[in-house]
Amino acid sequence: MKVCLLASGSAGNSIYIQNGATRILVDAGLTGKQIENRLSSIGVDPTTLQGIVVSHEHSDHIKGVGIMARRYGFPVWMTQGTLDGSKKIFRGTERVHVIDNDQNFSIGDLEFQPFPLPHDAADPVNYVITNGSAKVAIATDMGVMTQLVYQRLRDVDFVAIESNYDRKMLMDGPYPWVLKKRISGRHGHLPNDGAAEVLCDLAQEGVKHAVLAHLSEKNNHPDLARNTCQDLLKQHGVGNFPVTVALQERPSEIFII
Ligand SMILES: [Zn+2]
Ligand SMILES: [Zn+2]
Repeated sequence: MKVCLLASGSAGNSIYIQNGATRILVDAGLTGKQIENRLSSIGVDPTTLQGIVVSHEHSDHIKGVGIMARRYGFPVWMTQGTLDGSKKIFRGTERVHVIDNDQNFSIGDLEFQPFPLPHDAADPVNYVITNGSAKVAIATDMGVMTQLVYQRLRDVDFVAIESNYDRKMLMDGPYPWVLKKRISGRHGHLPNDGAAEVLCDLAQEGVKHAVLAHLSEKNNHPDLARNTCQDLLKQHGVGNFPVTVALQERPSEIFII
């Protein structure tokens, strides 16, 4: 399976997943044009995609979903709550498959296992994606790591996990107090040290590689996220666990899992 984070961060998210002829985007939170450009930079023709699987209705995840679905005629998968919150991006001509937040579904060779997230959206999910042997998980947009999410992540090969903000940068930063409270609350986003703690455990469960994802533009820095994580991994005796940071400005490398 191939995975590329085309863009990751509070200004827009989209992840490309490929297994043979099965080619899917998880979220499309950039403009249609930007997504096409980033796909082309990794040699993928958008006409070969089978569709977009959506996590939730925040614009950094759905901005380009409607336009891509209309332009290429492929379907979209999302929960009813996400659909209800995404009406503005659809014109009624798109094919939308409504999914349950705990019911697996297949697209081509890939099985998607959705799981619910603690996040301030109508019915947010993320996914474990498997081709029968390799397993990949996406775990962003969650205020805290729940038992259920941890159970889903513990036996994957590769995880893209949220490392949204540095606590001090958030608290000292420019956001109004209500927004600071929202981001750091149970239904907000996961901080650098929260992601690092989870990865210390996952590294000992057999997860082989992690990507720190969905970094805040205002309240984080890639070096800070990476160092916070690597320092804690070292303290726990798993300093050689590979961690990569996904960026907003350009696609990640193509991970082969
Ligand atoms: Zn987001
Ligand atoms: Zn969100």
